Amino acid sequence: MESTLTAPAQTGDPALARDVKKRRTFAIISHPDAGKTTLTEKLLLFGGAIQMAGTVKARKSGRYATSDWMEVERERGISVASSVMQFSHGGCVFNLLDTPGHKDFSEDTYRVLTAVDAAIMVVDAAKGVEEQTIKLLEVCRLRDTPIITFINKMDREVREPLELLDEIESILKIHCAPVTWPIGMGKRFQGVYHLLNNEILRFKAGEENANQQFESLQGLGEAALKERFPLEADTLLSEIELVRGAGDSFDLDAFLKGRQSPVFFGSGINNFGVREVLRALSDWAPPPQPREAVERVVDPTEPKFTGFVFKIQANMDPQHRDRIAFFRVCSGRYSPNMKVRHRRTGKEMKIANAVVFMANERTRMEDAVAGDIIGIHNHGQLHIGDTLTEGEALQFKGIPYFAPELFSRPRLRDPLRAKQLNKGLLELGEEGAVQVFEPFADNTLLIGAVGQLQFEVVAHRLKTEYGVDASFENAGIYTARWVTCPDAQHLAEFTKANTLKLARDVDGNLVYLADTRVNLMLAQERWPKVAFHDTREHG
Ligand code: GDP
Repeated sequence: MESTLTAPAQTGDPALARDVKKRRTFAIISHPDAGKTTLTEKLLLFGGAIQMAGTVKARKSGRYATSDWMEVERERGISVASSVMQFSHGGCVFNLLDTPGHKDFSEDTYRVLTAVDAAIMVVDAAKGVEEQTIKLLEVCRLRDTPIITFINKMDREVREPLELLDEIESILKIHCAPVTWPIGMGKRFQGVYHLLNNEILRFKAGEENANQQFESLQGLGEAALKERFPLEADTLLSEIELVRGAGDSFDLDAFLKGRQSPVFFGSGINNFGVREVLRALSDWAPPPQPREAVERVVDPTEPKFTGFVFKIQANMDPQHRDRIAFFRVCSGRYSPNMKVRHRRTGKEMKIANAVVFMANERTRMEDAVAGDIIGIHNHGQLHIGDTLTEGEALQFKGIPYFAPELFSRPRLRDPLRAKQLNKGLLELGEEGAVQVFEPFADNTLLIGAVGQLQFEVVAHRLKTEYGVDASFENAGIYTARWVTCPDAQHLAEFTKANTLKLARDVDGNLVYLADTRVNLMLAQERWPKVAFHDTREHG
């Protein structure tokens, strides 16, 4: 039923409510090498997407060497498809959003994390909490995203489980509630004890298939345990006693608030412990949640379609320059050829050919509800952070741009290609590959990035997609701040006095470029009524 109300309209459509309730939209976060790719592949096995195995690996193989990465990235088909993977299992529809592994792409990662409702954190049991995990968890905490912890590689000689939990709690500041507990490790890894089910799951190496059953021992008493596991039983019993007595027991509410994480031990490569993580996702992780727009909160079961773009990726075919906008549906239902309103431009748009990402192929999207991700082809109309709605003027919040830490200026080898250079840079800027600024003082574009590798990627893409040979030189800028001021007159004075230090970003926002930290501090002192922001949200 159509509603003309602009206030939150609860759906009268039970099918929509039912479909939304089944969705689980999540990401896997980890430090490189902890086992994210392996876990992704195993999860996909459960969804029957067996042909996927290998695709995920193929993509990540270039992570360390730029040249390899380019090779793989050139095969855009793979990388676009594996950015989002949808699979069904046990009555739930899972949308798994890939987060780029390389730290240089952390901006992209941050934005992907704004589009999920839960995350699985993979920790390498030998290494414990690592740098990237800390950063990623900080981002999850901004939105209190519920986290499920998977402690991986128990088939190796690793650290003591109690020590690992201690480290997670003290460094990541999140309470741990072990759900499974390991029995031994490495060559003597026997399996896990499930604290909630009072069940032991026996480890078996080399399991590749999702249907195999690990042996389960139900409700073993002390004597039986000692007989079965003579070397491990004493340690297990005392650890369980300790965990039960001193640790947190699982509390769904605390998990949903992002304060407590259920912890599972296993071995991704052996597919051991993966099923339990998947079950936690379906049983405990939240379905799509209400989402905050500037104007109001939008409920996922509202009948009218809404959503936002969190990532843009250039398409496979550089000749046509079309791009795919990754769009998270926040309410209503997508249907082919629907007309939507593009809030930033105020224009109407038809979404004719959205795609859904299933396994390693793209298929035409016929139906999508809150939590689902659709890919929308466009020629640059859609930017990161854009909101589309079925009419109502809404702008979703919380898709951040971060102040870049590295700046460079492009130098053309062939001066006649200046026009193509600018076009390429602006388009790559809109795509979010780098941040592009237009200084007031001259007409050379300035490029900002969070990581050095972004410049190399941009140089490569300029060459292959725009036929422009450019190098990048350090621009001698310390940082950028987005500036705002409610008093237009005052802002005009500020602009006049600082022309040489000002620029606009791809969306036309005013940016102050500071060459040193001291310069930034002085500007802030001198213009107390002007706000200097180190992140900006779209809209
Ligand atoms: P990512 O960088 O986080 O995506 O990690 P990968 O999934 O690529 O795993 C990194 C390395 O650890 C690979 O060589 C995997 O084969 C290995 N690995 C992953 N899971 C396990 C596990 O459970 N046990 C062992 N021994 N190795 C694992």
